[in-house]
Amino acid sequence: MNNNLRTINVELTNNPYKVIIGRESIKEIGCELTKIGIKVNTKILLITNSIINKYYSDQLLKSLTEYGFNAYTLLIQEGEQNKNLKTIEKIHECAFNQKLERGSLIISLGGGVVGDIVGFAAATWLRGISFIQIPTTLLAMVDASIGGKTGVNHPGGKNLIGAFHQPKLVIIDPKSLKTLPEREFQAGMAEIIKYGVIGDPDLVEILENAPQINNLNNLGFDLTEEIIERSAATKAKIVISDEREGGLRAILNYGHTFGHVVENLCGYGKFLHGEAVAIGMIAAGELAVLKGKWNKNDAIRQYELIKKAGLPSKWPKLPLKNILSTLEGDKKVKDGKIRFILPTEIGKVEIFDDISKEEIIECLQILNQ
Ligand code: NAD
Repeated sequence: MNNNLRTINVELTNNPYKVIIGRESIKEIGCELTKIGIKVNTKILLITNSIINKYYSDQLLKSLTEYGFNAYTLLIQEGEQNKNLKTIEKIHECAFNQKLERGSLIISLGGGVVGDIVGFAAATWLRGISFIQIPTTLLAMVDASIGGKTGVNHPGGKNLIGAFHQPKLVIIDPKSLKTLPEREFQAGMAEIIKYGVIGDPDLVEILENAPQINNLNNLGFDLTEEIIERSAATKAKIVISDEREGGLRAILNYGHTFGHVVENLCGYGKFLHGEAVAIGMIAAGELAVLKGKWNKNDAIRQYELIKKAGLPSKWPKLPLKNILSTLEGDKKVKDGKIRFILPTEIGKVEIFDDISKEEIIECLQILNQ
């Protein structure tokens, strides 16, 4: 048994669960399942893609076998382009053939794409069966795997089809980041910087004091584990206070309003989600400074961290009218007003519903200089 695992309790009233963090924790899956009361004869379906399967399924299956569990593995196609109802159908087909019942268990092993798909398949099979998240990207470790948002894309837009379905357990093994491409690591780092700016000034200082933060080797496992734990704890705290995104959870969208503009107008694929969020945070920071809500020095600290992480920081050249129409079409429009999450200090953001078109235009002019 590994005694160096850290635990975060996601204390939701109806669906409480633990987030277990630690190197080699994937190898502890069997033990962790017994701890949460999963019986040995439970049917388990492990779902992953072929890239991740090659690296991590064996150690996971070995641990399951050691504890007497039996799992069937289903491989789904890799990539955001397969985050759709076709893949859900494939999973449901397999669930049917494998005779998964209400008491069965699905394990998701992968990044946010696999996690969102598998979570939604679990949410919709027999009106919801239990599932476990084992995130293997930095972004999924600190964000996508915690909080129960599951879903797939519709041809008309990202994540339009979905459900809230909390996992039974989240297991984060930072060692699985060893095979993650550097660019994906950096994209995850954008979300970690986000957690610092929205709610954890100490995390910002840890990142500032680290010699380098642009890849796992430079950051080292100890620090990586620490910043994952801090970020996951912030995410858990926000989810606990607002499970279904009725209020506070909106602050998790810091950087996303402008980020979606970048993703949409540059074409999905040019920037990774985390990269677009990094550019979006710089834009939101600039808007906050312009509104007199944030001091310039803090905006510079955020900018420097984004650069240090190896993330893009330059606002791309885009037609103004397209930017404005994308902002207006964003899900974050409330009563006709565009809603922005803006920082007021390092570690604190507020929701603003009163940003005028003129202020957005002025902000964009500054970003384009
Ligand atoms: P991803 O799942 O697409 O993974 C990125 C790439 O890395 C993929 O090619 C994947 O196969 C590969 N990969 C994953 N882990 C690996 C590893 N350990 N070693 C080698 N390769 C590995 O990307 P992501 O950034 O994790 O997730 C993005 C998705 O997450 C989006 O669809 C987004 O909508 C969703 N998301 C969901 C939430 C939520 O709350 N549910 C939050 C944020 C993002």
